[in-house]
Amino acid sequence: MDLNKLAQALIPDENVKPLDYYEQAYPERDLPQGAHVTRLAPSPTGFMHLGNLYVALANERIAHQSGGVFYLRIEDTDEKRKVEGAVEVIHKSLKYFGVNFDEGADLCGNYGPYYQRQRAEIYHAYAKELIRQGLAYPCFCTEEDLEKTREYQTENKLLPGYYGEFAKCRNLTEEEIYANLEAGKPYVIRLKSQGDVEQKHTFHDQVKGDITVTENNQDVVILKSDGIPTYHFAHAIDDHFMRTTLVIRGEEWLSSLPIHIELFKVLGFKLPKYGHNCSIQKIDGETRRKLSKRKDPEASLTFYREEGYHPTAVRTYMMTLLNSNFEEWLLKFPDKPLDEFKYSIGKMGKSGALFDILKLNDISKTFMSTLSAEEMFDFLAEWVSEFGTDAQKAYFADKDYLCKVLTLCMGIGGKKRRKDFVCAKQAVEMIAYFFDNTFAPAYEYRFDNETVKKVLNGFKATFDVADDMPTWFDKVKAIATENGFATDMKAYKADPTAFPGNVSDIAEMLRIATTGLSNTPDLWTIMQILGAERTLARIEKAIASL
Ligand code: GLU
Repeated sequence: MDLNKLAQALIPDENVKPLDYYEQAYPERDLPQGAHVTRLAPSPTGFMHLGNLYVALANERIAHQSGGVFYLRIEDTDEKRKVEGAVEVIHKSLKYFGVNFDEGADLCGNYGPYYQRQRAEIYHAYAKELIRQGLAYPCFCTEEDLEKTREYQTENKLLPGYYGEFAKCRNLTEEEIYANLEAGKPYVIRLKSQGDVEQKHTFHDQVKGDITVTENNQDVVILKSDGIPTYHFAHAIDDHFMRTTLVIRGEEWLSSLPIHIELFKVLGFKLPKYGHNCSIQKIDGETRRKLSKRKDPEASLTFYREEGYHPTAVRTYMMTLLNSNFEEWLLKFPDKPLDEFKYSIGKMGKSGALFDILKLNDISKTFMSTLSAEEMFDFLAEWVSEFGTDAQKAYFADKDYLCKVLTLCMGIGGKKRRKDFVCAKQAVEMIAYFFDNTFAPAYEYRFDNETVKKVLNGFKATFDVADDMPTWFDKVKAIATENGFATDMKAYKADPTAFPGNVSDIAEMLRIATTGLSNTPDLWTIMQILGAERTLARIEKAIASL
């Protein structure tokens, strides 16, 4: 068979150039010894999974810590999954978490185009070459043909796929091929696999260690009927010509590894190093399962932005999942920039990483408590400008006031920093009572209305915003005494039934009246921030509600 002629008939792309053209156009990168070239290669589906950030962070750290390059390639070969604006979503969501690319889609770079759909010519050049070498062939099987084969294989408990005796088009004669072409039958191009499933090899996976890999014997599709490559074929060509040295990708690709090993071999390319990252899992009742896009809101990167998790907190948490020695480092150097941590592929988890939102919240609280009031102001302002209500946006009109609120709520200047803030959404909700436009108290007292009324009236009569804390508290104590409440805690503890309550119950009534809450930071300071007029207006409002 004239394979040159066949290659031309099957792939008549006029743009295809001789193969050495591509080798010269995309030369080896001039990088220091040991530098890694890594990439993120998402499909533009518009959805960014936490797993994307996970894999992006690993690749980014490895590239940048080795003095290498981290780039973005868009794997858009599947038209059905493509969503308008998806690439902006990828950039925006990763940038938020501090993941920056050196080159790639919508950025500059000498190894593009970085959209696979724009690289058809290169894929065609290599598919043609494989046909010329007798390593690829056209397949005219219809969906029904394939379905029949599948059914037969299932019934007879045979391995599924297009291989061996099931690879019907593998041995078509020249006449049959041209007759099919003349009849206008659609075709795909398949690899003519040279592998043998009896052959097993040891493969060193950068994450999982030594694994056994069975040779591929599947005649996988390399070009679909519209001339668009499959992921298998495209990624092999792209990783070669973009000079990727290390591929960290999700473990769902591990089962395709034999195909990829064979493709690199037949294409004459050096196989990059591979590391298969374990998937992120969560505990669901009694079981442990993959974090699911459908079931778990926290699977989406959008979730963290909408909730207003600080990017550094999320990044810190992700590092605890990615590298087993990270937490130890963090304990030792809590104030060092995260990028100073020496990332190591060897310390990546070999089995599922367990996502635990409580731990993220914990890390988040600790991180938030390290910010200054000014930093918190800026962080909240940014979140509110995108996700906040108009009422919340109004909080930011008086910076001085809000910074005082934050200083108190974060315990700045106190003995110990408070760790109340987890994320922007919750923080902004937590401070709502400081603002009249969002002050919506439910007033749930633990004492009867008469008592509360007496206490509030007593407070109203004596309150002076100029009082320092001890004076203010003496007045609260006086109200307690007037109402028969204990001020001597020893006496109270000795016989609690002798009193309706103690001075802290009085403070609680005042707290609820002023803030609507029974649990807040220091009440005297809250009143200082609110000022005399607003404090009294609140006390009056509370009295009126009784
Ligand atoms: N497009 C593939 C994905 O989104 C990329 C896998 C890889 O990194 O090679 O899963």
